[in-house]
Amino acid sequence: MGRARRREILQGLSAFGGEMKRIAVLTSGGDGPGLNPCIRAVTRMAIHLGVEVVGVRRGYLGLINGEVVDLDRRAVSGIMGHGGTFLGTARCPEFLTEKGRREALRTLNRLDIDGLVVIGGNGSLTGALELHRMGFPVVGVPATIDNDINGTDIAIGVDTALNTILDAIDRIKDTASSHNRAFLIETMGRDCGYLALASGVAGGAELVLIPEVEITMEEVARVIGDTYVRGKAHCIIIVAEGWKPGTRALVDYLNSRHEELGFEIRLTVLGHIQRGGRPSAFDRLLATRLGAAAAEALIRGKSGVMVGWRHDRAVTTPLEEAVAFCKEINMELWKLALVMEK
Ligand code: ADP
Repeated sequence: MGRARRREILQGLSAFGGEMKRIAVLTSGGDGPGLNPCIRAVTRMAIHLGVEVVGVRRGYLGLINGEVVDLDRRAVSGIMGHGGTFLGTARCPEFLTEKGRREALRTLNRLDIDGLVVIGGNGSLTGALELHRMGFPVVGVPATIDNDINGTDIAIGVDTALNTILDAIDRIKDTASSHNRAFLIETMGRDCGYLALASGVAGGAELVLIPEVEITMEEVARVIGDTYVRGKAHCIIIVAEGWKPGTRALVDYLNSRHEELGFEIRLTVLGHIQRGGRPSAFDRLLATRLGAAAAEALIRGKSGVMVGWRHDRAVTTPLEEAVAFCKEINMELWKLALVMEK
């Protein structure tokens, strides 16, 4: 490709006259890093295309109650590096009902809003699909640290959460080696083991326990015992919170056998620190690209789709497909973990 001309590209981006005058953006469900850059990108792309933007506070709850703020370019300045979401997020049981969703539609109409961008996880995108089915134009953006949404290689927030977990693993490894201990580190992931698996491989863990793969507590004990006999100074086991029979039960079991295992057992539950923090460079870029693409798709007349990231570009997938089932774990990565654990 020859050298691009900045002015021509800018003209090409805005050369279009659409129906939409005013759109709204909201963040819903579980929070994670990268939501602010995404709101910023939706806002700036929409304004660039000549469309007004309002932000809805506290997800679907704010949509039902009409809690909105006008967003101009300045309103989204300086938020790129902030974790969380300045619009707030919420879980909203009313929106699960037809009555609640009708209430939300009334608010959208009353406020002259022509379309909506929903940034969130599986539940939030299912809500977005319901609104689309009721005839309201909606485009979704996948944001969840679980990385369990179809139609996108990675969701907003995953990379930062992984880096947070890696930082914790590295620190715990230092103390585990000093004291000759085995550490269980529990990550988030109730149904999906992605965070545990990816951080386990990247963090050099001795074992990864995820909901998708069965392993008995006896087998875990055997790995710990073998690691000790091989002369390693520590044994790091990453456990997804959804692994059964659960981290607590495993700690009790291992403690009951600790004399024969060699290592003393300790547990660290990482909990909500995985959701907070400054978004990584990757998440800021991803959020900016997906947010901008979602605003553009909505304004150009798309509805009922999610804008995800595949093969280095933004691609749309029908919301129906995106939320039909949770994305399965990559078993190649799991097999690689088995080889690396040795
Ligand atoms: P996430 O979006 O992170 O998966 P939740 O599953 O808690 O988080 O969903 C967030 C919100 O999305 C819910 O509180 C509810 O308002 C809405 N939602 C979830 N599932 C549905 C559904 N099946 N139909 C309509 N709205 C839903």
